[in-house]
Order: sequence, then C-alpha cells, then structure tokens
Amino acid sequence: MKEEILRNMAVIQERINNACKESNRNPDEVKLLLATKTVPAERIKIALQAGHTLIAENKVQELKEKYEALKGVSHTNHFIGHLQTNKIKEVLKYDVSCIQSLDRIDLAEKLQQRLEYEDKTIDVLVQVNTSNEESKFGVHPDNAIALVQQIARLDRLKIKGLMTIGLFSAETEKVRQCFKLLKNIQQEIIALNIPDIQMKELSMGMSGDLETAIEEGATIIRVGTAIFGQRIYPDSYYWNEQKA
Ligand SMILES: *Cc1c(COP(=O)(O)O)cnc(C)c1O
Repeated sequence: MKEEILRNMAVIQERINNACKESNRNPDEVKLLLATKTVPAERIKIALQAGHTLIAENKVQELKEKYEALKGVSHTNHFIGHLQTNKIKEVLKYDVSCIQSLDRIDLAEKLQQRLEYEDKTIDVLVQVNTSNEESKFGVHPDNAIALVQQIARLDRLKIKGLMTIGLFSAETEKVRQCFKLLKNIQQEIIALNIPDIQMKELSMGMSGDLETAIEEGATIIRVGTAIFGQRIYPDSYYWNEQKA
C-alpha cells in the first residue's frame, strides 16, 4: 500500500516535470494538491509523510472524520467541494486555509459574516464552470468577473485566483478550451486592477488532464485517482448533488 502510493506520487511528479518542460515552465510554479475524498486517513498520512502536504476534501463530513487522525502530521487543508451555506460554521472548525469552490455571492456574504464573528480571514478561489455542464458547480464564465468584483469588497475573503473542473472528455482540445477560458478570465481580471485581490492561482487539471492544464498555465493541479487509486463512489456523488 505504501509503496504503491509512493510510486504513484513519483509518476505524477514525473508527469508534472515533463509537462513543464514541454511548456517551458518551472516545476516549482505548479503545486500538487492531493484530492483525498473517500481516502482513509491512514493512506493520506503516507502521502503527507512523504512530503506532499497540500490536501483537500470535498465534503465537510469527511474533513471532520479525518481531522483527529491527521492533526499530528503537518499539512495544509483546502476545500474543493460544493459548500452549502449551512456548513460554513462547520468547515471553519477544521483549519481550512483556502476554499477553492466559492461560486456565489450569498455563500461569500455568509462566510464574511461568520469570519467577522470569529475575527478570522480565509483564502478563496472563485470556481468557474468552464465546461458548460449543468451538473457542475461554479459561476457561469460570463458572470465570473462581476462575482470577483463583489467578493473583493468582502474584507475577510482573500481572493487568490480561480478554480475550474475541465470537461470530462477524451478530446484533449475540448478540455483545453476550458483551461484557456479560465486563463482568459484571469487575464481580464488582472487588467481591471481590482484593489485588494490577487489573481496568481489557477487551480485546474486532475489525474486525466493535468498535462493540458499545466500547458495552459495551471499553478495548482488536483490529483486523486492517479495517486490513491479508483474510488468506489462515482464522482457524480460529489458533483451532482442538489444545488443549495
Ligand atoms: C476528485 C476531485 C479531483 C481529483 O480527481 P481525480 O480525477 O481523481 O484526480 C479534483 N478536483 C475536484 C474538485 C475533485 O472533486
């Protein structure tokens, strides 16, 4: 089990290095985030102890279940799943440093309120639905800039960039269009010089499409299956829930 995870991580690092070489990028610019949904804490620990310390969950419930077991091992937690407003208080209990899936103003405003109350701040990425699939969360690309402008006024939310889930398709060029779109939105936002935000991070690319994402400028890739193996639940379990 340990050898398998370590071997998989070495393969991913090699894929990152090769993709960076192809696109003349420095591998240091690309952070590997481990998507740990359904993965037991024991397996996550193996990756953390090997030095890959950026991890993320999709559900507050799983964050909670694994919290105690992972507490003693140094790591950074992001949140990448659909967040319901009634889970805000809960998610803030578990040392999440960045919510990558912020996709609507009501969620942002309620987060702001709670953070004011707790006298905290949090990093956020704005999730954009670049694949036009009904089933995926994220703000519509046409509304992304307006949403960033609105969130920028909320002083407890520190915008660091954008996140997307690319189209699930074997057609690389179609997937690439999703990543290009996110990059274009990023560039438009940078040109607006919105005060008090950063737009450096582009979180895009997963096990199947990380090379394409890196070629298009990803700074964070989110990898699950290629490191921890196939999940028993289909991803629709995480992505197609009832919208809050
Ligand atoms: C599960 C998940 C990933 C990782 O997907 P894999 O195909 O297993 O690498 C990345 N991002 C999000 C938002 C996810 O839910």
